[in-house]
Amino acid sequence: MTTSNLVQAAYIVSAVLFVLSLAGLSRHESAKEGNAFGVTGMALALVATIWLSVDRSGSRLATLALIVAAMAVGAAIGLWRARVVEMTQMPELVAMLHSFVGLAAVLVGYSSYLESSDAGTADGLHLVEVFLGVFIGAVTFTGSIVAFLKLSARIRSAPLMLPARHWLNLTALVLSAVLLVWFVRSHSVVPLLVMTVVALAFGWHLVASIGGGDMPVVVSMLNSYSGWAAAAAGFMLGNDLLIVTGALVGSSGAILSYIMCRAMNRSFVSVIAGGFGQEVSMGEDRDYGEHRETTAADVAELLRDASSVVITPGYGMAVAQAQYPVAELTAQLRKRGVDVKFGIHPVAGRLPGHMNVLLAEAKVPYDIVLEMDEVNPDLPGTDVVLVIGANDTVNPSAAEEPSSPIAGMPVIEVWKARTVVVFKRSMATGYAGVQNPLFFKENAQMLFGDAKDRVEDIIKAL
Ligand code: NDP
Repeated sequence: MTTSNLVQAAYIVSAVLFVLSLAGLSRHESAKEGNAFGVTGMALALVATIWLSVDRSGSRLATLALIVAAMAVGAAIGLWRARVVEMTQMPELVAMLHSFVGLAAVLVGYSSYLESSDAGTADGLHLVEVFLGVFIGAVTFTGSIVAFLKLSARIRSAPLMLPARHWLNLTALVLSAVLLVWFVRSHSVVPLLVMTVVALAFGWHLVASIGGGDMPVVVSMLNSYSGWAAAAAGFMLGNDLLIVTGALVGSSGAILSYIMCRAMNRSFVSVIAGGFGQEVSMGEDRDYGEHRETTAADVAELLRDASSVVITPGYGMAVAQAQYPVAELTAQLRKRGVDVKFGIHPVAGRLPGHMNVLLAEAKVPYDIVLEMDEVNPDLPGTDVVLVIGANDTVNPSAAEEPSSPIAGMPVIEVWKARTVVVFKRSMATGYAGVQNPLFFKENAQMLFGDAKDRVEDIIKAL
């Protein structure tokens, strides 16, 4: 058996392990197993790829040394980032990592083009692969950088509304198609360079023109693009495993984007086309009336008398790291015979599944953690809802104000419960920058302060 055959066999086993990993990750109970499959598959793929490169190269030792040096630098930076990153910074980190995949695809594209031009082996098909790989890579690169800047609040999350912005996008696409024809006919680097600049600007503009509330879809879409960029790199390098892995990431990202669009009642096409067809107003100058404040002691009193409680966590719970006291409060209430459930909105937090991860970390039992659709019908009969650092995902204007930027997005209808207590630090808006009429409703009370401190105060008072 030759090295190449052995490596191909290892690639097939890795690909199967990746599929098993995805299957495992789709359920809480099997997620650990799924992770183990993924890690094993990746380790096998790495060993096989390094072996193949070393075996093929003229100076084996130098190649091995180069790979090990590059991996050591990457692993050191990766380990350091993974250790210092806060859970709340995870989405920005993921966005930044997507940008690296995009950049890698661009670099692989150029090196593959130069190599095949030098060797005189650049046929039409290979040039199309290079062109598409660089295009997808460049769009992913700048798109992910904008997503990173928006998610880390380094730039405003409001949509950039350039005049004729959809025409700009269309022009970029048509121009790129023309450049592709020129590139394949001429084999010249000029159309490739021009397209790279166009694609970089296109990626930037595409994500910049998407508003705050739609960012979750953008993040999962960039995830999908990064998969396609990796698959394109796989074609250019003739690496089957990279094609399979890229396609798995690309398609699972696309499916996730579609599911999130459905959950948010958004049109998939409208979001990927940079907010196409959305004309929004922020509705800031509306007078919603007065809000009422409460104290931890009063909330403890309220909970003591309640027989059913629903907790809806949001991004603020992640910021405050309040999941541990929230889990303790849940345990105490359940011990007293109170029926406690969690209602999780599909885009709560800043990452798909963000709240589920936090609650699992704090060992909240899975069977009381319900999805939005499961918990909404129970809310009219619920005594108390505790909104822990959630805002956009419990905003009634999504249902009541057609001109709101989040209009049409299904939300957790907490205002239908008997009493709602909102934990947050101020009257500030949530990620989408929209005022929340919930805070001014008759049955709503605001408990100001850091969510973790306030929940701990309630536990003490109980
Ligand atoms: P929001 O971002 O709407 O609101 C979070 C609230 O938490 C804020 O109003 C803030 O108010 C409060 N908060 C912040 N820190 C603390 C703290 N330490 N203690 C108590 N409260 C705190 O959160 P939601 O989870 O409801 O909504 C998620 C939003 O993020 C949606 O708009 C979604 O589209 C978007 N998004 C989601 C992604 C995903 O994949 N899930 C990805 C990207 C964006 P205050 O400052 O007054 O304390």
